[in-house]
Amino acid sequence: MTTTGFFDRFGGRYVAEILRRPLDELEAAFTDAMADPGFLDELQMLRADFIGRPTPFLHAANASRALGGADIYIKMEGLAHTGAHKINNAVGQALLARRMGKKRIIAETGAGQHGLATAAACAKIGLECVVYMGAVDVSRQQPNVAAMELYGATVVPVHSGSRILKDAINEAMRDWAASFETTHYLIGSALGPAPFPDMVRTFQSIIGEETKTQIAERKLDVAALVACVGGGSNAIGFFSPFIDQPAPRLVGAEAGGVGPGAGENAARMTGTAARDGIIHGYKSRFLMDEDGQVAETRSISAGLDYPGIGPQLAALGEQGRIEYTSVEDKEALEALSFFARNEGVLFALESAHAGAAAMRLAKELPRGKAIVVNMSGRGDKDLFITSPEFRPREWRDFLAAELERLNAGREIHGEGVER
Ligand SMILES: *Cc1c(COP(=O)(O)O)cnc(C)c1O
Repeated sequence: MTTTGFFDRFGGRYVAEILRRPLDELEAAFTDAMADPGFLDELQMLRADFIGRPTPFLHAANASRALGGADIYIKMEGLAHTGAHKINNAVGQALLARRMGKKRIIAETGAGQHGLATAAACAKIGLECVVYMGAVDVSRQQPNVAAMELYGATVVPVHSGSRILKDAINEAMRDWAASFETTHYLIGSALGPAPFPDMVRTFQSIIGEETKTQIAERKLDVAALVACVGGGSNAIGFFSPFIDQPAPRLVGAEAGGVGPGAGENAARMTGTAARDGIIHGYKSRFLMDEDGQVAETRSISAGLDYPGIGPQLAALGEQGRIEYTSVEDKEALEALSFFARNEGVLFALESAHAGAAAMRLAKELPRGKAIVVNMSGRGDKDLFITSPEFRPREWRDFLAAELERLNAGREIHGEGVER
C-alpha cells in the first residue's frame, strides 16, 4: 500500500475540504479491519458461500488447439455471484461500512453492474442502498435497474450533465459530502481519491491470489496475464500478486471502439487523445476535450467506456510493467463467439476484449507456454447487445412480439394491476 496515496504522479486526494475527514476515517478503518482476524473471517465466509469463491480456472484446450500456439487458461471470474468480479469489492466495502457503524451505502453505476453487485451485497449485509445512475443509462439498462430494485436498492436517475456515469459519480460525491456521518460511498473501480484505489485493489486481489495458486497447482509456465481495463479493478486485482516480479507479462486491453479517431473509443493508454487531468478526486490519464471537460467515449462494452483509468494502472503503464493494447468492438465480438463455440464459455463484452488480446498472444507465443485471461464477467447480461449484432432480424421480431403480448395483457388486466 502507498502511504501517500500516489502512484508516481498519479492518484492523490483532490476533494473538497469537507471530504478530508471521512476519507481519513475510511483509511484508518480499512487498515484496522485488514488486521482484524474477525473481519477477515467474515470476509472469507462471504467469499466462499455468497460469492462462490474460489472461481474456477479452465484450460481452454480446444481454443488453444485451434489457435496453434501457447495454451490459454481462463480465470472464470464471471462465475462469481451477480456475474462479474464487482461483487468482490462490493462485499468487502459493505462489510467495512457496517464495521464503521454506517447504515447507508451510496454507489454510482454506469451500465448497472456495480449497482447490481452493491445492491446484492447490501441486501446480504443489511444496509440501505441508494444507487446513482445517469438518466440515459437508466433508460438503456432497464434489466439491471429491475434487478437492483429486486435486491431492495433505490435507483436515483441523475439528470445533470450528459446524464451518464461521470454525472452519477459527481452526484454520489455531493450526497456523500452531506451524509458521511451515516453513509459510506462504495466506489466501484480502482479509482477516486485515496484510499479508494488501494482499498479496491486489496478487495479484488483475491482474483490474482487464487490464480497464483491455480497456476502453481498445474505447474504452468505462464508467459502473460491478460485483463480488460475500464477503471481497472479486475485488472489490478488479477495482476496485483505479480506486479513486483519481473514476469509474467501483464497485458491490459482497452476499448478500441469503432476506430482510433476522437470520440470513437475509450483508449486512454494506447491512443494519443488522453491527457493528465484531475477528475473525480484523483489525478490520472483522461480523455478530455479542449476545455478540459471529460470527453464522450465509445465502446460496445458498457463497462469499458469510462474516460479515465485508475491511477496505479496509469503509473504501471508508464513504467512499462503493464503493456496496453486496444481491441475494437468487432474483434471483441469475434473473440466472444470464438470462446463460446470452442469452449462453451460466454464472455462478457468487456472480458471479450481481454479474450481477443489473449488470442493474438497465443498465436505469437510458442506451445508449452501458458497465457491466463481473466474473464471478468459472463455474457448473459449482454444478450440485449449481442443479439442485435448477431441476429438483428430475429431479435427485432422477438421484441415486437413481446411488446404486442404486453399490450394485449394490459387490455385484459388493466395497466398497473398487480398479478
Ligand atoms: C465493470 C466491468 C469491467 C470494467 O471495470 P474494471 O474496474 O476495469 O474491472 C470489466 N468487466 C466486467 C464484466 C465489468 O462488469
